[in-house]
Amino acid sequence: NKQIKIGIVGYGNLGKGTVAAIEQCPDMKLVAIFTRREPESIQVQDSAVKVLHISQAEEYISEIDVMILCGGSATDLPEQTPYFARLFNTVDSYDTHAKIPEYFQVVDNAAKQSGKTSIISVGWDPGLFSINRLMAEAILPNGENYTFWGKGLSQGHSDAVRRVEGVKAGVQYTVPMEEAIKRVRSGENPALATSEKHQRICYVVAEEGYDKEKIKQAIVTMPNYFADYHTEVHFISEEELRANHSKLPHGGFVIRGGKTGEDHSQVIEFSLKLDSNPEFTASVLVAYARAAYRMNQEGQAGAKTVFEVPPVYVSPKSAEELRKELL
Ligand code: NDP
Repeated sequence: NKQIKIGIVGYGNLGKGTVAAIEQCPDMKLVAIFTRREPESIQVQDSAVKVLHISQAEEYISEIDVMILCGGSATDLPEQTPYFARLFNTVDSYDTHAKIPEYFQVVDNAAKQSGKTSIISVGWDPGLFSINRLMAEAILPNGENYTFWGKGLSQGHSDAVRRVEGVKAGVQYTVPMEEAIKRVRSGENPALATSEKHQRICYVVAEEGYDKEKIKQAIVTMPNYFADYHTEVHFISEEELRANHSKLPHGGFVIRGGKTGEDHSQVIEFSLKLDSNPEFTASVLVAYARAAYRMNQEGQAGAKTVFEVPPVYVSPKSAEELRKELL
C-alpha cells in the first residue's frame, strides 16, 4: 500500500506534535517541514527530517499529498490556508469559533478552484467536541449542551497575564467548576452564569520591587479575560514556574442532558484529559490528513469541516476491517 506523503507548515508546538504523531502512523511519510524562519535555525529532534523555507513549498506539489498547517489561528492561518489550498490538500486547526463561517468560505473558494480538499478547524475544540455536540443534539432534541474546558493551560489568558505591568512571567489555568459539572451530570439542565462554569487560576512571577497587590488587582479586574470570573492569583518564584508549570495540559467535557418519552432523563458525556494539548491536537490533525487524501482521491473537492468527514475516512483500517473489529 502506498504511503500518504505529508508536509508540515509551521514549526511551533503543533508542528512538533505533528512530527511525533506521523511517527506513529505507518501509512504516512513526512516529506518536509516548511517554515518562515531561517531553516538552518530550526532544531528538529530527528536530524533526518528535512526543514525548508516556506517559499520552496510550491516546488513540492507533486511530492506531497497533504499539507498539515500548524500556524496560529489569529494571523497565520487566515493567510496561509487559502494560499496552500490552491496548491495542496490541507488540514488545519483554526479555532476562532466566531469567524469559522467566513474562513470556510474563503478556503472553499480556493480549494474548489484547484480541485483540492481542505479540512478546516480540526482538533478537539473545534473538532472532536464539535462532533459530540452535534451528535448529542441530534439524538436528544429536547435538551441542553454544556461545554467545560480544563483543567488546562490557556495560551491566550497566559499572554494576557504576562502583559500586565510588573509581571515577569506567568501562566493561567482554566478550571471547570466541580459543582456545575455535578449539576449538569445529574440531568438538571441548570442555567449557568459564566462565573459558575469556570474559574481562572494564575501563577505569576513578579518583577523585583513591584507591588504584588497592584499586579493582582490589574489581573482580576481585566475586562473580557478575568473580570467575569472568580480569579485566583498566586505569586511564585521563577524556579517554581519552570519546574511545575512548563507543560501544556488541557482537556474538558461536552455534556448534554435531555428528556425522552415520559420525562426520562438521558445524559451524554464526552471528556478528554490531555497531558499535552499540542501533541493531542496534532494527532487529530494527522488522522484527518488521511481523510483529506482519500476524499480528494474520490473527487470531493472544497472546504470541509469534521461534520462532513465520515469516520471511515479517518481510520487507517478498511471499512471491512472496521465492521469486523470496532462496530
Ligand atoms: P505556536 O505559537 O507554537 O506556533 C505558531 C507558529 O508560530 C508556528 O507555526 C511557527 O511558524 C511560529 N513559531 C513557533 N515558534 C516560534 C519561535 N520560537 N519563534 C518564531 N516563530 C515561532 O502555536 P501552537 O502550535 O501552540 O498552536 C497553533 C494554533 O493551533 C493555535 O493558534 C490554536 O488556534 C490552534 N489550536 C487548536 C486546537 C483545536 O482543538 N482546534 C487546540 C490547540 C491549538 P514558522 O515555523 O513559520 O515560524
